[in-house]
Amino acid sequence: MSAVPLRLSDAERRPMAATAPRSVTILGATGSIGSSTIDLLRRERDRFRVEALTAHGNVQLLVQLAREFGARFAGVADEARYAELKDALAGTGIAVGAGEAAMIEAAERPADWVMAAMSGAAGLKPALAAAERGAVIALANKECLVCAGDVFMRRAAQAGARVLPVDSEHNALFQALSAGRGEEVVRVILTASGGPFRTWTREAIERATPEEALRHPNWTMGRKITIDSATMMNKGLEIIEAHHLFGFAGDRIDVLVHPQSIVHGLVEYADRSVIAQMGSPDMRTPIAHCLAWPERIAGPAASLDLARLGQLTFEAPDPERFPALRLARQALDAGGALQTVFNAANEIAVAAFLDHRLAFGGIARLVEATMAAFARQAGTGTPATADEALAVDHTARKMAAALLPQIAVKAS
Ligand code: NDP
Ligand code: MG
Repeated sequence: MSAVPLRLSDAERRPMAATAPRSVTILGATGSIGSSTIDLLRRERDRFRVEALTAHGNVQLLVQLAREFGARFAGVADEARYAELKDALAGTGIAVGAGEAAMIEAAERPADWVMAAMSGAAGLKPALAAAERGAVIALANKECLVCAGDVFMRRAAQAGARVLPVDSEHNALFQALSAGRGEEVVRVILTASGGPFRTWTREAIERATPEEALRHPNWTMGRKITIDSATMMNKGLEIIEAHHLFGFAGDRIDVLVHPQSIVHGLVEYADRSVIAQMGSPDMRTPIAHCLAWPERIAGPAASLDLARLGQLTFEAPDPERFPALRLARQALDAGGALQTVFNAANEIAVAAFLDHRLAFGGIARLVEATMAAFARQAGTGTPATADEALAVDHTARKMAAALLPQIAVKAS
């Protein structure tokens, strides 16, 4: 298992400003993480140069950003929007592209640093393309690790790429892990806000609407991850993400509900010291850490005022009302393919829920039913390549779609 090295050598601590501006590419520049990254770039114009930017369909914002930063390439995933992109950037000297090939081209262009912030398993191939040319990859797109974590981390290590965790909990662990050595770690702890339904009854959660689920108490994020936070599938994905990033077995990755989202992650060492990373809930903090790594730049988040907050509270997750963690651990224990299935079925379930075709409680049921059906029919071997993982992903999506009507009926 390849893992993020826990400590930096002195050679890696060279000042980033000593050389030319760091060139950066943002995959998913128009999204929530993309916008936070752009905000940081605006504050540090001399330190960074933009190589490539991508979006799925938001051509208007993509064009605006590409012009503002003088990007060398802009790519839109939705091929139907190609002409619009091409026309809007005509005469600027900015190269354009469309479709999956353009996402991969953006990743392959020679930026020092790539933010992988597309959402879903669609982000796997572009992120892998950046890894395979040995880039520094700020990885927000956790689904790509859950879909094909073994392949991704192996290829990144082989190519000498450096994977930096953007996800706030994993970024916290990355920082806290520099206080000791890997073999001295007893366990790592991911915190979870508990989402909007933390105090709701099981019956109320079962019937929650998309509007209710999209109202996250602490974080403003894209729609998919906001629903994942409400089901706690996000924390399930994050257990698997932590396993692939740091190499810890599932029984050494704990989850702690912490409604204020101030403590993001904790590492317990053999001597029982627990090192935690804290900060206001603002993704610009972990992104800034990755952007400047191994140095630090000024972050725009609110300074943490613990006296004003008064108290921080913690509780154990409730497996009855939130079955997502159990399903994630089951997928992790079973090995590669079921992790891919877990992610794929969840993507189908979230889309169906947002589309009012599935009850909120049906999301976990559909994921569980798809995992069971896949294990019965296709086994659980670990995909050896990205294409194998994507083939499993494709099969699992079809199975989830086929199971959807019966799960949806049971729920109503
Ligand atoms: P958003 O939905 O806000 O943004 C997603 C971005 O990816 C947009 O630029 C979107 O383009 C683009 N995109 C979406 N689907 C595709 C596709 N099929 N092909 C190409 N581009 C695509 O998501 P977030 O920024 O919230 O999340 C991005 C990733 O980061 C997710 O994996 C999420 O789990 C992870 N993450 C997010 C956090 C957050 O605070 N938001 C925290 C931790 C992790 P367009 O705008 O044109 O649709
Ligand atoms: Mg997170």
